[in-house]
Amino acid sequence: MSRVTVPRGTFDILPRDAARRAALEAAARELLEPAGYGRIETPTFEATELFSRTVGEATDIVQKEMYSFTDDGGRSLTLRPEGTAPVCRAYVEHGMHKLAAPVRLYYLSSFFRAERPQAGRYRQFWQLGIEALGSEDPAVDAETIVLLAALLRRLGAGETRLRLSSLASPQTRADYREELGEYLRAHASELAPAVRGRIELNPLRAFDSDDPATRAVMSGAPRLIDRLEPADADHFAAVRELLERAGVPHELDPTLVRGLDYYTRTVFEFTSDALGAQSGVGGGGRYDGLVEMLGGPPTPGVGWAAGVERMLMAAGEDATPARPLDLFVAHDGARADAFATVAAARERGLAAQMELAGRSLKGQHKQAERLGARYMATLDGGEDVRLRDLRSGAEETIARTALLDRVAGGA
Ligand code: AMP
Repeated sequence: MSRVTVPRGTFDILPRDAARRAALEAAARELLEPAGYGRIETPTFEATELFSRTVGEATDIVQKEMYSFTDDGGRSLTLRPEGTAPVCRAYVEHGMHKLAAPVRLYYLSSFFRAERPQAGRYRQFWQLGIEALGSEDPAVDAETIVLLAALLRRLGAGETRLRLSSLASPQTRADYREELGEYLRAHASELAPAVRGRIELNPLRAFDSDDPATRAVMSGAPRLIDRLEPADADHFAAVRELLERAGVPHELDPTLVRGLDYYTRTVFEFTSDALGAQSGVGGGGRYDGLVEMLGGPPTPGVGWAAGVERMLMAAGEDATPARPLDLFVAHDGARADAFATVAAARERGLAAQMELAGRSLKGQHKQAERLGARYMATLDGGEDVRLRDLRSGAEETIARTALLDRVAGGA
């Protein structure tokens, strides 16, 4: 029969990878919880409207990347492509605006986008994300950015670059879109066809183009960063000042365009050259209109999401050491004794395993070494046990009843 394989763009997480992910999760928890962030997890699927309304009808995500389906009740549901809209939905649904602001939340979940798979780009991937809701203080923008910088440093993610911009207010952006659209229409003949086709739908995307002629046109295009209202410009300057005070280097990048419509004011992205074409490690920004868009009270918010696979790739292959084995129980026919010994060892919190594959005594010794066990005990049904210290090679005979004390003492 033909083999069934993992769906395109997805992957299995085997124990070694799981250990690295667990270490990342622990590092995130240790950093975020003392800073006031509490864990939140939302459902894997949501009403499709949650994303089409917030992420934006004209974005790549909504246009072509959502895994949507209709359930038996005729409702359109979508496997979540991102985490911010679901968190804001939950914020409204649970009346979290009544809590003291800012409400700080984090998640570590899998997301789904029907993108063309390549190295570092998957159809199911994991993101660690944080959201801080209820404050428009630039210190909250800066806090979230400083936390991501700190996390990347703790994970050993190496050299990363932080680019920053401001997307202003929705009104300024709408006016600017008009202005940019006019500029693009005036240069339409010089633009790549794909860019030309998107002028009306999403002119900002023209800044993403790799086409040389388009890039030449874009180098002379009007910039949103030069059109900020004074309040937005002051807010942005304050964020940058705080980042400097916190010692987080960053570059201003007026062409930074995030692929989602709900952003306002600060947007940012961390990239790593170690990652190749898919260099984005994590990014985010402010989304002051999002909660209101979901039927909640006007509530400012800011946050980011970072790709777990990308962070692990940037951190390199430093294998997280697995918990070492304290005791391997070999046996010569005394299976039940071995079984009881392992069970008792585990009760005491020791890492223990027994022979379960019918190996010869010599083969059992080899297996204990392969597992990196500290001790091997050989049980033959008698009252005494042969205990071998696999580190020193020393062997002794002790009473079976004294075995676990001995291993616990030496391990
Ligand atoms: P975004 O929600 O698009 O801003 O993505 C935030 C981060 O998630 C990116 O910087 C990547 O690290 C990661 N990411 C986004 N899309 C994918 C994907 N298809 N596969 C793997 N990681 C992704």
